[in-house]
Amino acid sequence: MSAIRRLPELIVNRIAAGEVIERPAAAVKELVENALDARATRIEVILAGGGIARIEIIDNGIGIPADELPLALERHATSKLRDETLVEIATLGFRGEALPSIGAAAKLTLISRPPHQPEAACIRVEGGAVSDVAPSPGLPGTTAIVEDLFYATPARRKFLRSPRAEGEAAERAVWRLALSAPHVAFRLVADERVLFDVPAQDERARIGALFGREAAASLIPLTAEREGVTLSGFIGPAALNRATGALQSFVVNGRPVQDPVLKLALRLAYREVIPAGRYPVAALTLTIPPDAVDVNVHPAKTELRFADGNGIRALVIGAIGRALATPVSLDLAPIATLPSTPQRQSNFTFRLPPPPSPQARGFADAELGFHASPQARLPQAPPEASYRDHPLGAPLGQILDTYILAQASDGALVIVDQHAAHERLTEEKLRAAFREGAVPSQPLLVPVVVDFAPLDAERLLAEAPLLARLGLEIEAFGPGAIMVRSAPAALKNPDAAGLLRDLAEEFAESGAALSLEARLDAALARLACHRSIRAGRKLAYEEMDALLRDMEATPRAATCAHGRPTFLRLSELDLEKLFGRRA
Ligand code: ADP
Ligand code: MG
Repeated sequence: MSAIRRLPELIVNRIAAGEVIERPAAAVKELVENALDARATRIEVILAGGGIARIEIIDNGIGIPADELPLALERHATSKLRDETLVEIATLGFRGEALPSIGAAAKLTLISRPPHQPEAACIRVEGGAVSDVAPSPGLPGTTAIVEDLFYATPARRKFLRSPRAEGEAAERAVWRLALSAPHVAFRLVADERVLFDVPAQDERARIGALFGREAAASLIPLTAEREGVTLSGFIGPAALNRATGALQSFVVNGRPVQDPVLKLALRLAYREVIPAGRYPVAALTLTIPPDAVDVNVHPAKTELRFADGNGIRALVIGAIGRALATPVSLDLAPIATLPSTPQRQSNFTFRLPPPPSPQARGFADAELGFHASPQARLPQAPPEASYRDHPLGAPLGQILDTYILAQASDGALVIVDQHAAHERLTEEKLRAAFREGAVPSQPLLVPVVVDFAPLDAERLLAEAPLLARLGLEIEAFGPGAIMVRSAPAALKNPDAAGLLRDLAEEFAESGAALSLEARLDAALARLACHRSIRAGRKLAYEEMDALLRDMEATPRAATCAHGRPTFLRLSELDLEKLFGRRA
């Protein structure tokens, strides 16, 4: 221990770099925010090696006068903050931390020219060492170039994910900023591929360009107001749900945010209309009086503190609820014309078990109170002997069009979740075929073209070789569009568009961060889900029987890919306990 001393500026900046720019996406965000604050009307972002190798951001904004360039790189130096109470913050930046932090952790070059200045000037900082200002060729505006991010802070560099994962996060950051400022033209290039290039446009058109035409076409506009807070934007109908939250954007007072309060409100608003684990599509914009929200919660400024979080939540949930209800109610038939068959009120549909045979008395339907359905097909009664070796037993029937009931040879009642079970079987089969070389593929009769948000299309095309080995052949078909040529033969009538969309999101959210093995698992699970028997489908006796036999023959069939059981077994003892016949 030695005497207390002030930390040198370089160390302070390196410490701040850890908070303000913990990864390339954060550096990209800070630099694009600077360009927006400089009132640029056109911003170009060029990334190489996931932004770790190089980030270049070119704007046509107000520029930095040559003599102010050294100051711009100094800590807590800003041209922006007018209100010292930190309430009226009209700009995206105000802390004067981004440039010195980037300069302490990387090699940063600024080339800038205010419109009235005859030529541009350049300054460079490398690991905290600042160069002199030198004249440079350059158009009006500012170009910021960041090279070798975190080369000066190896501890931080170690925590970066793969260039692909980091690049993806950086691209998402630009995507969010482009949604928050539709009046500014944006171009995003990553490793020489143009991911999007959008002109200045209105909000609706920008969402169309960045969400993909398909999603944009069905979006529902909404607006609402409550105690000085206004909400506007577009939400997807329930049916447009996605595998991840990638197509969700929140903008508060012009600032793109990823705020837990807003995310939760969105999820709650859709809770009853989309399946668990699926995500709605939404682009929401909130305008809140500056004194009712604090943006200065975290150096990265992506989280907020609302003075009245409950009020904001109620506003979002209420507005979405109303927007979702409007189109749906138009589709509803008048209640009076609904057939009033009392039986329809029951959710239970029992399927006919196989006809009782002398050998298989356990199936007697009268005993179990099953009702024969007139459409049921009557299969050949299976001889009892053949079920002895079958732990899952003989099908008795189906309830709720979702669960198969079976009786095991020892009398136990077996209940199978038909979708979960079938999904597992399909996945295991695809996996086995994949291991043996390739999954059999079948050309589509008519190739299908699917529209995507530009970032998603790129993700998917990057996985084309893996998908081809899984029997799914895709190729680029113009900007944002992908053509599906063939699908795994095991998928009988593939919904190619739906499948591809789920895959794209699977890869977009988690894929890049994962190993090939993990991406394969994700793709297999998606393919399997698309091929599988749905819950809610009536099954013929033979189908139920085949499913049970298949489960017995498949290792790991007892749980689905998410670890939930695919079947339950109630033994005679279990039943006796349930009925209180035994303690
Ligand atoms: P802050 O944005 O919080 O002010 P920064 O470190 O990001 O802090 O930037 C410091 C200053 O440099 C800004 O206040 C602004 O005056 C100037 N500056 C940075 N980037 C640009 C740009 N692209 N165009 C014009 N001025 C810029
Ligand atoms: Mg800034």
